[in-house]
Amino acid sequence: MGLTPLPTPSLAERTFSHIADPGLFVAFALRFEPGRDPVRVAAPYEPEEGVRLEAGGISPETRLAVTTAVETAQRIAPWCPVTVGANLISAGIPIRPGSYVERDGQRFAELGGIFLRNSEEILLAASHSPFGILSMAAHEAWHALEMRLADEAKAAVMADLGPAFAPPEHPYYADPEERRAVAFDTWCKRFFVGMPGFSSSTDLDAIFLAAWSGELGKILSDR
Ligand SMILES: [Zn+2]
Repeated sequence: MGLTPLPTPSLAERTFSHIADPGLFVAFALRFEPGRDPVRVAAPYEPEEGVRLEAGGISPETRLAVTTAVETAQRIAPWCPVTVGANLISAGIPIRPGSYVERDGQRFAELGGIFLRNSEEILLAASHSPFGILSMAAHEAWHALEMRLADEAKAAVMADLGPAFAPPEHPYYADPEERRAVAFDTWCKRFFVGMPGFSSSTDLDAIFLAAWSGELGKILSDR
């Protein structure tokens, strides 16, 4: 009986090879103040009660996306410091569906990102996929931008949004602020994946493009 050659690894096997690889263990968080070099901050980093960036493993692929994620967030909302850690958890009931972890007998929701309204700071978790952190950066930066955006612009975005698939039992999907932020991060994915054929044809496109390009962020920086 002849030997059958081993198949070459499939794309999926190569893509997921980091699962067997412990990746990079990051014992600190990185804080990016606008226009400055990143500095290490001790992890766990708790800028607010119940919100915690933890140490943990980061896959090599996501590690490469961190710089782009921070650049994206700070182009959209140039006044926001961005702090990146491995895992981001928040005490209590999550505002969006997701998994839970326990710390000291307490329940925490696992998040990909959060925008802290009081300090106008963005926190991002690097334990997710590369597209996950890029998308989360756009999402949280949109929340930051919206705090300074005219009501007319928000209304124009809502007016262009059609009906959405939305699991009705969870209020996250019905919240207009989250609908706009999810719409924006979904819209931005076209650039992350290099989709062709973009043309701006609606108010929503024009507003999102001005946000993505940094044009709105520059105008709103001084407020
Ligand atoms: Zn959100």
